[in-house]
Amino acid sequence: MSTQSSTSFDLDAWRGLTALQQPEWADPAELETVTTELAQQPPLVFAGECDQLKDRLAAVARGEAIVLQGGDCAETFEGSNADAVRNKIKTLLQMAVVLTYAGSVPVVKIGRMAGQFAKPRSKPTETRDGVTLPAYRGDMVNRLEFTPEARRNDPQRLLRAYYSAATTLNLTRAFTKGGYADLRQVHAWNQDFVAGSPAGQRYELLAGEIDRALTFMRACGADPEEFAEVDFYSSHEALILDYERALTRIDARTGLPYDVSAHFLWIGERTRQLDGAHVEFLRRIRNPIGVKLGPTTTADDALALVDRLNPEGEPGRLTFITRMGAGKVRDALPPLVEKVNGSGAPVVWLCDPMHGNTFEAESGHKTRRLDDVVDEVAGFFEVHRALGTHPGGVHLEFTGDDVTECIGGGHEIAESDLHERYETACDPRLNRQQSLDLAFLVAEMYRR
Ligand code: PEP
Ligand code: MN
Repeated sequence: MSTQSSTSFDLDAWRGLTALQQPEWADPAELETVTTELAQQPPLVFAGECDQLKDRLAAVARGEAIVLQGGDCAETFEGSNADAVRNKIKTLLQMAVVLTYAGSVPVVKIGRMAGQFAKPRSKPTETRDGVTLPAYRGDMVNRLEFTPEARRNDPQRLLRAYYSAATTLNLTRAFTKGGYADLRQVHAWNQDFVAGSPAGQRYELLAGEIDRALTFMRACGADPEEFAEVDFYSSHEALILDYERALTRIDARTGLPYDVSAHFLWIGERTRQLDGAHVEFLRRIRNPIGVKLGPTTTADDALALVDRLNPEGEPGRLTFITRMGAGKVRDALPPLVEKVNGSGAPVVWLCDPMHGNTFEAESGHKTRRLDDVVDEVAGFFEVHRALGTHPGGVHLEFTGDDVTECIGGGHEIAESDLHERYETACDPRLNRQQSLDLAFLVAEMYRR
């Protein structure tokens, strides 16, 4: 990889356009120093891995596989420790096994991890008890604590985000390639607080079936390598363009630019303007990319995005992540799917059933009901089944920890329980039991 000859790819054309949701840095000269340093750091992912993911996503677009993408709304530096990362991977592996076994489809596993450190905000400031401070924009920019010092937008945090992503990726590579993801470990992923829950017990039965199938296969002399490790990809919202630009390199093998901060990058609902900086930057990189589409998206908006981001119709290149809300998905989604599908564009359709279903509980906690989440996924399936298109998978906010941030699920978390372990730095996440509950329900939808 090199940073040379990047001028020929117009990787800086976005600088002349409106870039929404960018922080005002405390010291612009320091930003320059930091991005220069970032540009000299080794890549976090390799272009060849991004291409491999693109191939897998092309299979999803053809209806031959599905995607499970998920992780925290906002990762934090403090929360990027070995236990939390292992719990998230464990949850994702458990969900993937449920989907693969009960749904009988190959699952492409993408963590919303190792780089999800920046957040778009509805307001640039936050006011508490008459005090107004800059909003928290994610650990890549400032800190959650409500003090002037913590809310200072500090460019040095971009470097910390890079190193934190590197250590998280190192752990995920170790966990997924080093024996922990071996299918013979299906029972081990079900330990601790989840094991006794209704979803955990259901999982245990399924793990037992997988065990018997594996034993049978080994008795027959088959022990394929594919069972020993999994391919796991990283992703985050490409929000802070100075960070993404500094981590974009020209791949020596293909001579093309890749953003090596993650395998998959997406553009958020708030920054997907056709003439905006985010669309301009992401169209230049060769990674597989996504765009979030909310309920105000028109079919023409979606077509224009296809045209801008994947003009050549490269399979696996573009994923639309729809986040309509349970009450709107059945009306808002069909026109988009119909028109995009009619155009022949090879798009992957993912359902984000989280961001259209957030509300404030009486206690003031931002929360979501698992029932609404499930209902949006059900609506997503109904629409795709009716139009003959492939429901390509789900994009979720979850954690492997035992938190109380969303309502419902096997343990029936109530509004009055939210305060008990409400730990998110941004949006409410499904805990491990709720994630497993959801995986079983989604697997049934694929089976139908
Ligand atoms: C998110 O994924 O955390 C997010 C902010 O979503 P959206 O862009 O869909 O609002
Ligand atoms: Mn979120």
